[in-house]
Amino acid sequence: MSTTSSAPRKRVLSGMRPTGKLHLGNYMGALHNWVRLQHEYDCYFFIADWHALTTDYADTSQVKQNTLEVVLDFLAAGLSPEQCVIFIQSHVKAHAELHLLFSMITPLGWLERVPTYKEQQENLSGKDLSTYGFLGYPLLQSADILIYQPDFVPVGQDQVAHVELTREVARRFNQFYKPKGTASSTSLGMTRAQSAEILPEPQALLTPSPKLPGTDGRKMSKSYGNTILLTDPESVVRQKMKPMVTDPARVRRTDPGNPDKCPVGDLHRVFSSQETLAKVYDGCTTASIGCIECKGWAADAIVTMLQPIQEQRAKYENDLPLVQDILNDGTKRAAVRAEETMVRVRAAMGLEENLINAR
Ligand code: SF4
Repeated sequence: MSTTSSAPRKRVLSGMRPTGKLHLGNYMGALHNWVRLQHEYDCYFFIADWHALTTDYADTSQVKQNTLEVVLDFLAAGLSPEQCVIFIQSHVKAHAELHLLFSMITPLGWLERVPTYKEQQENLSGKDLSTYGFLGYPLLQSADILIYQPDFVPVGQDQVAHVELTREVARRFNQFYKPKGTASSTSLGMTRAQSAEILPEPQALLTPSPKLPGTDGRKMSKSYGNTILLTDPESVVRQKMKPMVTDPARVRRTDPGNPDKCPVGDLHRVFSSQETLAKVYDGCTTASIGCIECKGWAADAIVTMLQPIQEQRAKYENDLPLVQDILNDGTKRAAVRAEETMVRVRAAMGLEENLINAR
């Protein structure tokens, strides 16, 4: 819950698609940073279940379970309902309303030139993505963001173009529509809502995301089947690590290698202690350790890191009504904030419910 101290904290918003149980790449690329940010900012974190439909509309049987898995991983990793608002996108219907209104003002060319549009159509060639929903998903994302009027959106480099589109949409909206009346009746100290513009432009907050290869050496990704999950028990982590690709220079045990050219070395740099890292560099470059031993050390570090996360997850798995309560509370808090924006948006666009007394 937000503190009652004088200066309101800057607001941060981010979301994640419900892809099922999260892996180390999801954790280091986003979630780990969110856990830190919740102590510094007024944070809203959501699971973007409508976004899952933009590519997986033909089979929605897994959406509900995948959403629950992500919520459990959020909580297990340390997002706290006391420190941030956690909710499901589709539970706050106003996102859809703002998306629809944005669709009226957004030129098609803006969406067609989003880099991921063509890329994903090519990468997911088994799916028909020539749909209205898929073209419009960055605009839905703009609505997801702007409805909370955040100061910052934490993203990786590959998402910066989406935040830029969001800023353009906000600019265009603000050019067309000016605030009506005042926002003095807001109950939550929304300094941004009282600004001259209805939808202030958020900034991308580039968060550190270390290189995290999967077991085949490519970027860790569910679609490559090369992940280590936050929920993987120790035996599975060790089993997945065993065949992991290494520095190709180490053909024989006696060949020296270079941890800077080895995906296992990348994992050590993220998860191992300085002491272990020193042993890895020394042992690898002098061929005094074998790759099996080195992978075992990397697995040790990962297992140690995962242990408290898995303990937390077990607590929530054993108390699913509590998880539902957290989501219900998060939805309420998010909906209040979203509605404050929508009141101003509707008024500015001539869409108030009260036609007679509307200013
Ligand atoms: S010893 Fe370790 S860092 Fe070196 S090549 Fe083998 S797995 Fe990679």
